[in-house]
Amino acid sequence: MRSVCLPPTRRLLRCLLPGAPAAMNRSFSLDVSAPLLRTQALVDGCWVSAAAAFPVLDPATGEEIARVTDCGPAEAKQAVEAAHRAFGSWKQTTAKERSQLLRKWFDLLTQHTEDLAKLITFESGKPLREARGEVSYGASFLEWFSEEARRVYGDIVPSPARDRKILLLKQPVGVASIITPWNFPNAMITRKVGAALAAGCTVVVKPAEDTPLSALALAELAQQAGFPAGVVNVVPCSRERTPSVGAVLCTDPLVDKISFTGSTATGKLLLKMAADTVKRASMELGGHAPFIVFDSADLDKAVGGAMASKFRNSGQTCVCSNRFLVQRGVYDRFMEKMGVAMEAELRLGHGADPDTTQGPLINARAAEKVATQVADAVSRGASVLRGGKRVGVSFMEPTLLAGVTTEMLCMKEETFGPLLPVLRFDTEEEALAIANASSVGLAGYFYSQDLSQVWRVAEALQVGLVGVNEGLLSTPEAAFGGVKQSGLGCEGSKYGIREYLEVKYMCLGGLRP
Ligand code: ADP
Repeated sequence: MRSVCLPPTRRLLRCLLPGAPAAMNRSFSLDVSAPLLRTQALVDGCWVSAAAAFPVLDPATGEEIARVTDCGPAEAKQAVEAAHRAFGSWKQTTAKERSQLLRKWFDLLTQHTEDLAKLITFESGKPLREARGEVSYGASFLEWFSEEARRVYGDIVPSPARDRKILLLKQPVGVASIITPWNFPNAMITRKVGAALAAGCTVVVKPAEDTPLSALALAELAQQAGFPAGVVNVVPCSRERTPSVGAVLCTDPLVDKISFTGSTATGKLLLKMAADTVKRASMELGGHAPFIVFDSADLDKAVGGAMASKFRNSGQTCVCSNRFLVQRGVYDRFMEKMGVAMEAELRLGHGADPDTTQGPLINARAAEKVATQVADAVSRGASVLRGGKRVGVSFMEPTLLAGVTTEMLCMKEETFGPLLPVLRFDTEEEALAIANASSVGLAGYFYSQDLSQVWRVAEALQVGLVGVNEGLLSTPEAAFGGVKQSGLGCEGSKYGIREYLEVKYMCLGGLRP
């Protein structure tokens, strides 16, 4: 058995934010038990190092928290070959065996919640309470797919010929390349890998360059759970090496499937690369979620939903509300209540500070993007009711904008930050036209107490997920996936495993009637 008794690894970090209030400038330490602080790649069941390493930074301070091995195309190729070899025997395992291993992995995640949460907080900036929630959410996919593994049924179809039987078999696709973002360093991996392993596929994971530590900790726990060598491989790499590693993962003929979560622009690039060898592809791409408050809404619930769906992870999720449309009759009261809730509930700081609700954005570029959208909106006539300023390098004040119009940048592109821009509308038709005027369609939310309006609007919104009087939707039981340029396929639910299965038609002939 692996040692789990090594002394905790401790890194003391001082959170120094130029221009920030003194309370934000404190020291925090990253205490994680040593086996979970992995910095090498996992290839074919072994921890391996590439020639170089790259730094992982705490986005709150810019300080280095670890150096992680920087894989290149050679390591990616080795990982693909290992996954291909492992697939030969992994696909032969019974669904129950795969289920039991996934269940063990789930148990280990649950057992190590605190350490996994700290890693998320220190490498992505997510406040600790939310990070614990992410670990629980991430683990829930392993639990769900450990259950789904045993429910992959084929079909026996009535045949038009008396001497033939028609059988539809479900078989694993093969080797899956899994490319994940930094905003859910844990859950975006388990949501894909859980489904892939349950189906009988093997995987090569390339985590985001900002957040490799969570991925490697998950790999360590997969090892402890007992997955055979080569079934789970993780190849971290720097931003510089990402294109060459990505090219292997998306073009190598031994890879059968790619699954990606990230920006629409990168998703399109990967799809093009995968086209040459006609790989299966699942894509969870960007969103531009509308949040509509109709006159009949319960305003307190709408404000609560807006707070949750906008400010979770400092606004850095692809289902975060991005465009707020509020009907004229409730606009003033909504703005007032929103301002009060923001003042009372949001606190900027280092994610490790238990009082923090708003951590840093992932980097300076992300904060700059929000600030640019605020400046653009103000230059076109919007007014800042709350916040509006950058703090330090990568923090942004939660910001409430009134008097927003469709010409403003914040209504045209995904913000990925704590900006809540509000546009006033008059009619349901007008709100729907604005909400649907987008090339992407992931999540959408609306608040209404009018039952016929609820049906009309839920059906008319061009999105893959719709929250009716609800601001938080994600759960492993439900299907998660976008329409339009928000993606292909879906994750979670009974459909998630389908992304990793082929349907094979078997005609059993020569059966004399
Ligand atoms: P962001 O700009 O926020 O980092 P991306 O969509 O570019 O969003 O990143 C999501 C994931 O896609 C990350 O793991 C990133 O490394 C990866 N990625 C970006 N470019 C490529 C590429 N050319 N090939 C493979 N992976 C890529």
